Amino acid sequence: MFGETPLKKRQFLEALLFLSLILVLAGFTAKKEYQNKSEPRSTAKNIIFMVPDGMGLADVTAARIFKNGSEGENLYLETLSTIGYQRTHAADSSATDSAAAASAWASGDKFRNGEISCLDNDQDSKCEPTPSPTILETAKDKGKSTGLVVTSTVTHATPAAFGAHVSSRYCENEIARQYIQITEVDVILGGGLSRFNSNGKQADECGTFGNFIADAENNGYQVVYTTKELENAVAKGSKKILGLFTPKGKTPELFRVNRAEQYSNEEPTLPQMTAAALKVLEKDKDGFFLLVEGSQIDWANHRNDIAYQVAETLAFDHAVQVVMDWINEKPSRRQHTFVIITSDHETGGFAINDTGEGSYKPGDLVDGAWATTRHTAGDVLIWSQGPGSEYLGRALDNTDIYKVMREVLK
Ligand SMILES: [Zn+2]
Repeated sequence: MFGETPLKKRQFLEALLFLSLILVLAGFTAKKEYQNKSEPRSTAKNIIFMVPDGMGLADVTAARIFKNGSEGENLYLETLSTIGYQRTHAADSSATDSAAAASAWASGDKFRNGEISCLDNDQDSKCEPTPSPTILETAKDKGKSTGLVVTSTVTHATPAAFGAHVSSRYCENEIARQYIQITEVDVILGGGLSRFNSNGKQADECGTFGNFIADAENNGYQVVYTTKELENAVAKGSKKILGLFTPKGKTPELFRVNRAEQYSNEEPTLPQMTAAALKVLEKDKDGFFLLVEGSQIDWANHRNDIAYQVAETLAFDHAVQVVMDWINEKPSRRQHTFVIITSDHETGGFAINDTGEGSYKPGDLVDGAWATTRHTAGDVLIWSQGPGSEYLGRALDNTDIYKVMREVLK
């Protein structure tokens, strides 16, 4: 009896050792496989990041029905091959604002609502520690050209998180200053003229005011105010363009359609601005980073306005068409361009009611309803294609999108 125990114990220990070895080996193999999976299989020369601000999936349905009817074809954004979704919460709130969400994409961290790629932990209105470069700044460091194209002020929260670092989204004069004097974003197109020349007016929350249009001109920018001027600047081969087409946000698409004579030519549409930006940025042999935002889908949902929402969603989708046409012109563009389309959050809790009256025809506005006039905290979809998209067809956090872009950007 006594002699058996040590032997059994030894056998047991040997078995345990063997089992441990197998587990370690299995773990090692599993880890290696995981590492292999996380190693980039592809690299992207160009990134086109497209944001339908505040758009939920029901907004896509409503826009598709208006354009093509219940039985009709997909929108352009629905043709992208990879679909995933992301969590959107901010560091301090389950419902994010555009500042915290865009900062998560641009800088890969969780930010408080209102912060623009700037952690202000001691609330002294200064970033801390030294902010790490945004994905746009990283692209610039790699020799690429950069662009911001939006329908809000170009100094609004979403574009700002890519091209500036400030403790508050309301520092729009300071954001304008940083775009021109520090980041030197090559193509800046949208509304917000008043933010670039605030001389003689009130300073913003950061205490900044000044004439940054003069700075832009001295810094090699072609500054344009109309569609014609934008077209001329592109045709002339300008590499740096600052286009400010309205004092604040751009004219909603709906007004453009209904009051065509008033809004016909002076102000370019989102698709026209996107095409212009691509014509400038494509000249850089090192590639580019371009942000395109349909900023006012969010504003339409805040107002619980279905016609406004559908018009803005379709204008955004038309910009997607411009991007897809540009990519499909050359196989090399398709091979080297990573396209990401995703909202920062949903706004309004928009849903489409069951009317019990059969399907909709093209031109019909759906019978919709909103749960709130504020942002909601639900996850939002990500459509993508090209190098890097193989990591986005799954459940993600908004900070993961930064990590993927950082990983594949060549
Ligand atoms: Zn909003």
